Amino acid sequence: GPSARLHLPDEDATLAAGARLATALPPRLTILLRGDLGAGKTTLTRGLLRGLGFTGRVKSPTYTLVEPYKDSRISVYHFDFYRFTHAEEFLEAGLDEYFEGDGVRLVEWPDRAHPYLPAADLEVLLHVAPSGGRELSLRALSPEGQTCLNDFIA
Ligand code: ADP
Ligand code: MG
Repeated sequence: GPSARLHLPDEDATLAAGARLATALPPRLTILLRGDLGAGKTTLTRGLLRGLGFTGRVKSPTYTLVEPYKDSRISVYHFDFYRFTHAEEFLEAGLDEYFEGDGVRLVEWPDRAHPYLPAADLEVLLHVAPSGGRELSLRALSPEGQTCLNDFIA
């Protein structure tokens, strides 16, 4: 599908990319975050949450599976399925409920919940670059994701 690429020379650039994504979010969106351990998935999510005005700590949901962030305007749910040993854990933990209705959902290690994870709107890929920075690519998976991507590159 339609995509965009961006070089992120340092951690601040990853935070800025997340914050930029925050400026164009509809109330209902699911974002897949792909990339190896240490690629910057949680850092990008932190930038997005800061961009939305959340000032508290943003910690990795590796052990909790989901970290919720809510205010009067928006609900954000940050997931990390790295520790799943089987995809059924997604259903066993009742996580499917978070994907019904409004909310911005960011999912690290989405493949570990396959095939139970509902359809997503946007895919974010992060790779460690030879320079030590990161390469970011965004790919739209739905019309809502495409609108988001268009706003991101505009
Ligand atoms: P993940 O969630 O993908 O496992 P994290 O975001 O937890 O990765 O951690 C990535 C590490 O890489 C952090 O130490 C962060 O400071 C660093 N980092 C993030 N973005 C960049 C970047 N563009 N260039 C260099 N280092 C980065
Ligand atoms: Mg992480």
